[in-house]
Amino acid sequence: MNIPDIIIAVDGYSSTGKSTFAKLVAEKYSFLYLDSGALYRGVTLYALENGLIDPEGKIDDDGLRAALPSLALDFRPEGTFIGDRCVEKEIRTLEVSSHVSPVSAIPFVRNFVDDRLHAFGLRKRVIMDGRDIGTTVFPEAEIKIFMIATPEVRAQRRFDEMKAKGQDPVFEDVMKNLLERDYIDSHREVSPLSRADDAYVMDNSDMTLHEETVWFQGLCQGKFGILE
Ligand code: C5P
Repeated sequence: MNIPDIIIAVDGYSSTGKSTFAKLVAEKYSFLYLDSGALYRGVTLYALENGLIDPEGKIDDDGLRAALPSLALDFRPEGTFIGDRCVEKEIRTLEVSSHVSPVSAIPFVRNFVDDRLHAFGLRKRVIMDGRDIGTTVFPEAEIKIFMIATPEVRAQRRFDEMKAKGQDPVFEDVMKNLLERDYIDSHREVSPLSRADDAYVMDNSDMTLHEETVWFQGLCQGKFGILE
């Protein structure tokens, strides 16, 4: 099946399987996959490592604002980089997860990340996942998908993922972090997590990856007609 050169926005709550789905589509249809959350995580890791978040979780706004213009945060084929250092593993820890939502609620942080995402979007044939891609970053995206799943299913997936990466998470902590991030992400003032009016909702609580692919093919055929 051929899909034209479009932008696909995949939004939804934490751990709904957005990145797994987006990577699959990117691989199958030769799209560039961009994980916007990785950039917010990268900014958060940088802030933590440079003393810009105190032990109580208070963010040094002025310090962070001054540091961002020279923060060399980038996507490479191997993952997310700060300068020449691959930080793909470090940005996925529970410590980063527990500070990322307050950091990403700061308007100048959002502008910093949005500028980078827009530069990638100029190329088209991009699938990007996040919280506000279809509403704010690329409101003109030709396909918008909003993914949902029950909190139990999401927490279990995140827990399994962390285990598989050699971490030692406590299920209740993982669940608590998910719910906290959902709350902050959907209640912040600037571009809160919400479903775009023209987004297609996928509830994948009980779906296999194959079923997700079939669902997506059906969506594309409905939108673009039968593609070879
Ligand atoms: O997608 P992921 O869970 O890695 O994102 C980490 C955090 O980054 C989210 O909880 C949210 O606070 C923030 N984020 C955001 N807007 C996006 C993507 C992520 O605010 N487009």
